[in-house]
Amino acid sequence: MSLLLERCASYTRARDARSAGLYPYFLNFDGRDAGTARMADGREVVMCGSNDYLGLSTDPRVVAAAAEASARYGAGCTGSRFLNGNLDLHDELERELAEFFGKEAALVLTTGYQANLGAISGLCGPGDLILVDKEAHASLIDGARLSRAKIGWFAHNDVDDLADKLARVPRRGGVMVVVDGVYSMEGDLCPLPRLVEVCREFGATLLVDDAHGAGVLDKGRGTSAHFGLTDEVPIVTLTFSKAFGSIGGAVLGDADVIDYLRHHARALMFSASASPANTAAALESLRILREEPWRCTTVADNAAYMRRELSALGYQVGTGSTPVVPVETGDELNTLNAWNLLIEEGVYVNAVLPPAASPRLRTSYTAVQTEEHLGRALAGFAAVRDRLIAVPTAA
Ligand code: PMP
Repeated sequence: MSLLLERCASYTRARDARSAGLYPYFLNFDGRDAGTARMADGREVVMCGSNDYLGLSTDPRVVAAAAEASARYGAGCTGSRFLNGNLDLHDELERELAEFFGKEAALVLTTGYQANLGAISGLCGPGDLILVDKEAHASLIDGARLSRAKIGWFAHNDVDDLADKLARVPRRGGVMVVVDGVYSMEGDLCPLPRLVEVCREFGATLLVDDAHGAGVLDKGRGTSAHFGLTDEVPIVTLTFSKAFGSIGGAVLGDADVIDYLRHHARALMFSASASPANTAAALESLRILREEPWRCTTVADNAAYMRRELSALGYQVGTGSTPVVPVETGDELNTLNAWNLLIEEGVYVNAVLPPAASPRLRTSYTAVQTEEHLGRALAGFAAVRDRLIAVPTAA
């Protein structure tokens, strides 16, 4: 057997977890509504593991917009926006996104992952330097790698470390600093005011991936608006696969930056455009978000309530203030056990294992969960609490 195929044959980690009945991935759901999901075996679980922060993925208006767009334009565009897959819907979404987020222009790509790949590798190249927060999302790291620029790292949210690295950079090419607005596993915010200051001081271009902040913070306008710094962040990327309840991604910035990316972002130019259904769904979600800012308040209230109640039950939940609430579980085995016990109690959360992040349960909340949903989730957490926190936590 070839070395590469041998590598697959000897990969046993997933197989072992499956045979121990502890495999938490690729779970099959056969239905979802606001707040709950039905698993393939018919069990209903309270969904505390989605990124559907505003509950829009199942909103009848969003679903109808997707259906109408499919009927009008077909199931797919079968080409890149660059050549033959551009719809008036893509252009309309770009105009409305730019206006809503207070930027000159927007560029819509097929996923948020591609938005990051396209923005970073479209702007940076050999001779440039990209400094990346150590906890940055995989798509930011992959975008940096794809660019062939030099990559440096700074400690998570440590602006002094970043400033130190920037001060030691020999000045030849361009410098980009790459962070998440809201970190997806811990739910903590980036220290945007100081990042802006330091980037300005050293002439670096800041890119903020606001996948988890856009649609959620500051009536949906995201992390930059939350800090009152919309004009100070030159490049923002976002996804439609979370608060917007669809699939797709976008880059926001000045008109000349966006136009440059239209002609240099390979992830845009060499991949088929977002489907009519997904594009129309994202557009409808944006319009609903504009009209219904209560969704942002409610998701924040729901998460704050869960953070408080989970701590009262004895869980360590971190210090964030976003809809992502991590629950410490100590080690991998305890994480998998906890995940299984919670499923038995009718509560769905995400099991996070290295290398994604240190072992934990990632819980997340939405605007459409009712008191009853959250009560059921807390009852589940209470039922498994002793078995969870009895296990020593990792240092
Ligand atoms: N950035 C962050 C911070 C994310 O969490 C994700 C999705 N997990 C992405 C980018 C990629 O978004 P998409 O699902 O649209 O590819």
